[in-house]
Amino acid sequence: MTRRDDQIDALIAGGGFAGLTLAVALREALGPSFAVVVADPAIAKNLADDERASAIVAAARRLFETLGIWRSVAADAQPILDMVVTDSRLGDAVRPVFLTFAGEIEPGEPFAHMVENRFLIAALVGKARALGIELRATAVADFSNHLPKAEAIDIKFADGGTISTRSLIAADGARSSIRERAGIAVHGWNYGQSAIVINVGHEREHGGRAEEHFLPAGPFAILPLKGRRSSIVWTETSAEAERIVALPDQAFHAELEQRFKLHLGEITTVGTRRVHPLGFFVARSFIAERISLVGDAAHLIHPIAGQGLNMGLKDVAALAEVIVDAARLGLDPGAADVLERYQRWRRFDTMTMGLATDTLNRLFSNRSAALRLLRDVGLGMVDRLPALKRVFMREAAGLVGEVPKLLRGEAL
Ligand SMILES: Cc1cc2nc3c(=O)[nH]c(=O)nc-3n(C[C@H](O)[C@H](O)[C@H](O)COP(=O)(O)OP(=O)(O)OC[C@H]3O[C@@H](n4cnc5c(N)ncnc54)[C@H](O)[C@@H]3O)c2cc1C
Repeated sequence: MTRRDDQIDALIAGGGFAGLTLAVALREALGPSFAVVVADPAIAKNLADDERASAIVAAARRLFETLGIWRSVAADAQPILDMVVTDSRLGDAVRPVFLTFAGEIEPGEPFAHMVENRFLIAALVGKARALGIELRATAVADFSNHLPKAEAIDIKFADGGTISTRSLIAADGARSSIRERAGIAVHGWNYGQSAIVINVGHEREHGGRAEEHFLPAGPFAILPLKGRRSSIVWTETSAEAERIVALPDQAFHAELEQRFKLHLGEITTVGTRRVHPLGFFVARSFIAERISLVGDAAHLIHPIAGQGLNMGLKDVAALAEVIVDAARLGLDPGAADVLERYQRWRRFDTMTMGLATDTLNRLFSNRSAALRLLRDVGLGMVDRLPALKRVFMREAAGLVGEVPKLLRGEAL
């Protein structure tokens, strides 16, 4: 089925990591004859000043390498060379280490890299522009997909423009208005927890070590950045997080140091303190008539395992693969069977990973002595079983299950 001249093939609403990566993947595979537009009111601005960093796991790095994006961020990416996990109370003088992981998934291939969000978004925008992808600085305000079996969706932009597209991809984040307009509900809950995110500088080298300290209020993660710097993701109850970020500098520093400790020497905070309320949801459906959801629009998970964006990139790789397969056969990229294939591929896997992170958070974010004993025995056992550790590592690196081609490092 061919499209009309006044129609495009894919409109991607949202120019965050998920939306831009999908646009690049489609253009790389199908060339300019497959018309893709990305619309986002904050395009190229939204994350340019984002001081956060993300753990990009091995599978996601393979995807970025295949799409020619990794080379733009590689120099600023810090490989995670090993990880330690501890479980203690805030006042404990010594934190016994229960679990350690050496950081390579294959010889010479680190399990993950820490990449600052602003570098990754700049690389994605640069690549999209170089490929000639149209980036429109406006929001999708409305659309009509109410006619069953209609050949396209008519989109209205917030700037008054309109476009007709054979498929609409909602990459518009956790509060997706497209998901809502399409009538797709979500299953989920709030944790009553928030993550304080801040970067710190320290006197000594971190040696590429990531640390996850399970404290009663929630995990306190120290994630290595290039240079003598680390990114902190620090979970507290929401009320406590608000109290802590509002503290004067000296008092905030004391709270931070109590959790960070002094093993890397004196620490200094760099940049702004930010608070992110934490919740969990998975959309009841990842698709509707000519619509598919990707990234945080489809699911939101606890950052405990640093998997949110990596899951979104898995959606992107799977959706790109099904669309490319259909387009190469001359099929309609928004047809129900194409979108069904995407949903079958991703929804169950998302549920599994989402519930795993939820269980992990519930198991560790509490003060029960019995649970503490149970989880510490569990961690200790995993630590003594190298084969099991390897399974966990490969799972966390995104290399288990039906892995889409881009995440295996294969071009579409
Ligand atoms: C504290 C914290 C730490 C994290 N750490 C990690 C980590 O280490 N590793 C990891 O994998 N993940 C991590 N995550 C998760 C990760 O940040 C998100 O999963 C990821 O940013 C989501 O990307 P996205 O492109 O789906 O959505 P977003 O980044 O939210 O982008 C959505 C875009 O859509 C645009 N938009 C909104 N409405 C419209 C509209 N109507 N029309 C057009 N555009 C619209 C917005 O302007 C925005 O640019 C973390 C999250 C938190 C809170």
